[in-house]
Amino acid sequence: MRGFWRQLYNSKGAGALGIWLGFGVVFFWFCLGWGGGHWLIADVWVGGMGFLAMGLAFFRRKFGVVGEFWGDIEFGLGILLGSFLFATSFEPDGFPAVFLCLACCTVLFSKRSVGWLYGAAIFLDIPVTLLRQGGRNWKGFIAHVFWMALFAAFYHLVLSAKFWSAKQAEKRAIEARMRELEKRAHRLRLSGEAYASQAEWLWASVHEVDGALENLLKVLQYALRADSAAVFLVLEDRQSLCWHLGEGDIRQHKREPFLAAEGALSAVLKNEAPLHLFSENGLKSLGYCVGHIQALLATVLKDKEGIVSGVLLVERTGGVAFGVEDEVQLSVLAQEIQRVMDLERTIVNVRRNAAERDRFFRVVNELNRSNSPEQVLSAIIESAQHIAPLDFCAITLVDDSEGKRFHKIARVSGGDISMEKRVFEDNVGLVASVVRYGVALPSKDTLSSERHVVFCENIFLGGMGSIKVFPLTAGERTLGTLVVGSKKKMAIEADELRMLEVVAISAAQAVLRAQLFGQMEKMATMDGLTSLYNHRTFQVRLDEMLSTSKRYGRQCSLILFDVDHFKNVNDTYGHPVGDDVLRRIGKLLRKLARDSDIPTRYGGEEFALIMPETDLQGAQVIAERIREAVEVEIFQTEKGILRVTVSLGVATFPECAKEKAELIEVVDQRLYMAKRKGRNCIVAVSSNANKGASSKLLGENFLRQ
Ligand code: GH3
Ligand code: MG
Ligand code: MG
Repeated sequence: MRGFWRQLYNSKGAGALGIWLGFGVVFFWFCLGWGGGHWLIADVWVGGMGFLAMGLAFFRRKFGVVGEFWGDIEFGLGILLGSFLFATSFEPDGFPAVFLCLACCTVLFSKRSVGWLYGAAIFLDIPVTLLRQGGRNWKGFIAHVFWMALFAAFYHLVLSAKFWSAKQAEKRAIEARMRELEKRAHRLRLSGEAYASQAEWLWASVHEVDGALENLLKVLQYALRADSAAVFLVLEDRQSLCWHLGEGDIRQHKREPFLAAEGALSAVLKNEAPLHLFSENGLKSLGYCVGHIQALLATVLKDKEGIVSGVLLVERTGGVAFGVEDEVQLSVLAQEIQRVMDLERTIVNVRRNAAERDRFFRVVNELNRSNSPEQVLSAIIESAQHIAPLDFCAITLVDDSEGKRFHKIARVSGGDISMEKRVFEDNVGLVASVVRYGVALPSKDTLSSERHVVFCENIFLGGMGSIKVFPLTAGERTLGTLVVGSKKKMAIEADELRMLEVVAISAAQAVLRAQLFGQMEKMATMDGLTSLYNHRTFQVRLDEMLSTSKRYGRQCSLILFDVDHFKNVNDTYGHPVGDDVLRRIGKLLRKLARDSDIPTRYGGEEFALIMPETDLQGAQVIAERIREAVEVEIFQTEKGILRVTVSLGVATFPECAKEKAELIEVVDQRLYMAKRKGRNCIVAVSSNANKGASSKLLGENFLRQ
């Protein structure tokens, strides 16, 4: 309705101007005649505003200012001014015209425009009511404002309520229609779990089948000179029949489902053969029908697998019984009807398979694009959840590194999140068995989590009606498992289980890739022999640490140490022993370093320790601990006991150096000094600097040697 008025007003530019001109004329008429005397000021005011609005209308058209808001304001002002003219001319009884006008505006215009029009009405009412005859008529003015507001609120409420109830009714109607459609689709066996999400396809398929069936029933009715023809379909429970479609006089057919084993149609279903019935007095106890019928001819509908899907029947309310020829024709049409239903079902299956395949490839693609372990775990969970309606999903990974097998719950979704990161030993639970045998368990369908240990005795997964565990197998190795679950029993369909199995294979590849990726990353940042950070990482991390120190004005210390006479170790005990010594020193360094420190293998038999937020004194203490720890360490070799010592240089940023290169230079010099001083000692000051701080330590170390 709104659109109509707006269109009427806007479509006739001349007409709109005509309205305004009309107001002008009426205004003068009132000014000079009826309205004269003490209404004059108000009339001049309202009329003046009218001309202003006329100006707006004129400019809007001339300069092409478009938009709903200005159109509403212009039109609204027009009728508002008209109502004010009327009100001022028929004071005091004419004022309800303004209320009526505002109520109309509430119905016709947008909320924003209506707000402005109410403002305009109050503004217009100032000279008309408040300042009338030079006085201050507050009482009348406030009463008007009050009534205007009340009208606005009332209409707004009424409109909103009507709008809401209309929307609800529409929603209900759509829901009812969808339910009916779903029922029809179900009866025709067109719907399915994966397909249900594609509502528009469902619509199209149901319409396609029903349209074809209607035509075939019309042909049947005409060819057999029947009064009515109808199709009843067997419901999913295989126990009931339900009317689906009919032509002719079908008012007496029951529309609710009824038991297939009762009434006349039970014989058709049981014998799977045509049924003739005739009685001049009318057939009794038909079951599916309550009206008067003299002749009935019915036959079964059988799908291409030979399963009975419904009954096709024709009826006559008078005249003669159906003959053998009629039976032949009915059988032909029954086959035709079944062919239509089968064909659509095939199309639906093709579409569904295509949609499933599409979904599946998207999921696998997503898996293939993930690289980091975190990304891979998230992608596997998401993929599994895309394939089937899962309430629980988890990934476990095998850890054989310590010579004993452990399983780690790497990621959980939908269940008890505290399970995540928990580790359990190899046992007889489902997960461990799946890893052991490399096959999905249970082998068929799913089982309940209540009666089976999924992870281990201490990690309980309850409330799952269906659980299945797939192995994540890459080549010969089973890297872990994918555990999926649903609260409902038998909730995961066979197709979905099949797809999940393939997802698990892709997931295993992705996990393997992520593990290799992780190893590569480790190789790029770690030293293979000592498992400390390598030289490259040392440089990067020292850069980071120094820039943080600079920014926050903190200190950062660096220890560099070298194994004394290491060449001799290699020469005397052999390289493998040398390697073992380096490995053990690496372990000691890792043990002595704090979490925030960065222990690295600087090169050959040289090690470094970056210590953020540590002053020189603190670093010296740690350096001494390292020196001592190495000194007391005993290495058993074939050639007897071996002991080694290290020499250490210590420097602190920004005290000893202002830049990274300078810091490394200083610490290197100090290490060299320690070597020159006789090894197995620490140097924490440069030779040309004040030696106060380190001389004691140096002295102690000399003594110890
Ligand atoms: P100094 O006390 O002056 O440091 O004497 P040094 O013998 O330790 O000094 P030098 O730098 O001459 O010798 C370092 C030796 O460390 C030489 C090299 O064969 C050995 N080396 C370096 N990297 C490794 C390694 O990874 N494994 C083994 N076994 N030896 C290594
Ligand atoms: Mg050395
Ligand atoms: Mg060296």
